[in-house]
Formats: sequence, C-alpha cells, structure tokens
Amino acid sequence: MKPHAPTRIRPVINKPLRSTLLLTFILICGAWLTACERNTEQSAELFVFGTIVEIKLWGASPAEASNAFTELQQMFQGMHRDWHAWEPGRLTEINAAFRAGQPATADPDIVTMIRRSQSIEERTGGRFNPAIGGLIELWGFHTSDYPIVGPPPSQAQISAILEQQPSSRDIDIDGLQLTTDNPAVQLDFGGIAKGYAVDLTIRRLRSLGITNAIVNAGGDLRAIGSHGKRPWRVAVKKPGGGSIGFVEVQGDEAIFTSGNYERFRQDQTRRYPHILDPATGWPAKDIASVTVITDEGLLADTAATALVVAGLQEWPAVAGALDLDKVAVVDESGTIYLTPAMEQRIQFSGEVKRVITKADRLH
Ligand code: ADP
Ligand code: MG
Repeated sequence: MKPHAPTRIRPVINKPLRSTLLLTFILICGAWLTACERNTEQSAELFVFGTIVEIKLWGASPAEASNAFTELQQMFQGMHRDWHAWEPGRLTEINAAFRAGQPATADPDIVTMIRRSQSIEERTGGRFNPAIGGLIELWGFHTSDYPIVGPPPSQAQISAILEQQPSSRDIDIDGLQLTTDNPAVQLDFGGIAKGYAVDLTIRRLRSLGITNAIVNAGGDLRAIGSHGKRPWRVAVKKPGGGSIGFVEVQGDEAIFTSGNYERFRQDQTRRYPHILDPATGWPAKDIASVTVITDEGLLADTAATALVVAGLQEWPAVAGALDLDKVAVVDESGTIYLTPAMEQRIQFSGEVKRVITKADRLH
C-alpha cells in the first residue's frame, strides 16, 4: 500500500491575491497614518510689530504646515520692515518725504492701507485717522516699552500739530506714487497693520490649500474653517486682563479688541492711553475696551480703534456708519454694552451687567 501522502495544506490565498491584500493593507495603513497626521493641530508662534502671532492649522500635514510657517515668517519680516512706524524702513522714508514736501514711493500693501484708511476716516468722522503719527510720536507712543512714565506733552505742542489738520485724505495716490501738500501728514499704521496682516496671512494660507486655521495676535484674530469637528473657540479680552467670555467662530470671521488698559503713559496723577482722539490730540476717554466681530481683520481693527475714540455716547452711530452689527463695549465701571447680534454670540463667563444697544444706522 502506498503510504499515505502527507496532507498538503494548500494555501487558501494564492500568490497574486496575497500581494493584492498586502498592498491594500499597506494602503489602508498609509491612509490611516495620513489621516492621523492630518487630524491634529499644527501650530507656530511668529513675531511681527512687537506682537507674538500664534497660528494654528487643522487638517494640514506636518510638511504642509512647516512650509506655510516658513512662508509666513518671511512675509512677517517684510511687513515689519515696510510698515513699522518708527523703526527705519519704507514707512519712515515715506514720512520723511512728506515732511520735506517730496513725493514718496509706496508698495501695493501700503497703498491698500492708505486707500482703506481714507474711506474709514471719512465714515468714522475722522475718529480713525492714521495720519496723526506726529501726535502719536509727541505722546511718546512710538515705543514698545510700556508704560511710559512722565507728564503729557504741552497743549501748545499738541495744538501746533492739530492746527495743520493732518488727514489720510490729504494724500494723493498715483499708482505707487504718494504726494501730499500737508507736511504734518505722518502715517502710523498702529491701528490697522495688525488687522491687515491677519487678512494677508489668511489669504496666503488659503493659497497654500489650507482651509482650517486661526491667526491670533494676542487676542486679535481671524479664523477660517473649524478645529476638526468643533468650531474654533476664542476668548474675548477683558479690560485689565482675563476675558468677558467666549465666542465660537462661525466660518470666516475676525475678532478684534482695542482698549485703553495695556499701552499708556503715566504720571503722578493719571494714565494717558495710546488711542488718541484726532479732534483734540488727547487720549480717548470713557471706554475701557471695544470688541468688534466682522468678516475682515482690517475693518475689525480700525473699527475697534474708532469706536474707542467715539466714546459711550457716539459709538452706536459710528458702528452704524461702518455697517457693523457685532460690537461689545466695556466702560470704566465694567458695564458691557452690546449690539443684539453680539449678545447672541458671546458666552459670558460669570455674571455681567449688560445693556443691549442697537447700532444706529444699520440696514
Ligand atoms: P492695539 O494696538 O493695542 O491693538 P489699536 O488697534 O487700537 O490697539 O491701535 C492703537 C494704535 O493705533 C496706537 O498705538 C497708535 O499707533 C494708533 N492710533 C492711536 N489713535 C489712533 C486713531 N485715532 N486713529 C488711528 N490710529 C490711531
Ligand atoms: Mg485697532
């Protein structure tokens, strides 16, 4: 009898099928790993105009994020060099030319900021005016070291500048050529540059294919998309530190706060905050902070500054003139005045005294 042939275990999976399965397995693992690395937050802290800008991305791979951060760092370096109000660069050259009655050459971003400022200056009745660099310098606010200690400038020094009525609308723009016949026009982009920088950052991120991001310059920010399954959630700054509450960002929004509590001059008797009323040449009074939510950093930044200048009586009219519907104002006693649309958006931390105030001229 023929010995029993040893039972051969036949592979159930033939060779071609095996390699297909192996390949599928590798592909699934690869996709899973890619999904994992994309399902995380990538963040960086960059530095521009004396402010740390925190950038968080969601859904980007580490390689995409690192490429984006490198590009943004270069972009910020250019902005710092070209837009700085007192460190020597393109803007200080423009201001020197204006003082000397000479034409000056700008770049497209400076032209954009001037054009937008001209319109916002007009709509805010001159409360936002980036041509008052001479006054800002006179007050000593061309520094990063706060607080500044010492008495305010004399009324005679302030009046000497006010009499010349510097306005961004005194600047004529022809391509990249700037001219003005008012030598008191001195540009200071302290109230607009951060907002525009945040807008340009979002634009650059989008051009790199990034759709979920938050760009946060010390509580002033713009966000797009979401943080995975949940919205971006941000704190609304409170005068003196902390937050009055939180906002969940809906789609593409900018949130900016201007206040009188962080940067100021101080003498024995009082504080002189860095936001000046262009009509008087003295610091704006009676509002501690303004928070604006709108779809653009430039508008949110300039509007917040203008509304601080407008004061408790007039901020609703100025908000209306700028077509803003989401504004929160905090006065010196901590009372919060809110437009109805803003009241819907803030999740307050704790009890606050709230007054709902409509912006005056909304459509
Ligand atoms: P922050 O820089 O603290 O966020 P703002 O956005 O309000 O505050 O900008 C304040 C800066 O804007 C000042 O430091 C100054 O450079 C400039 N500035 C002050 N007053 C005005 C004004 N009335 N219009 C335009 N710019 C101003
Ligand atoms: Mg501002």
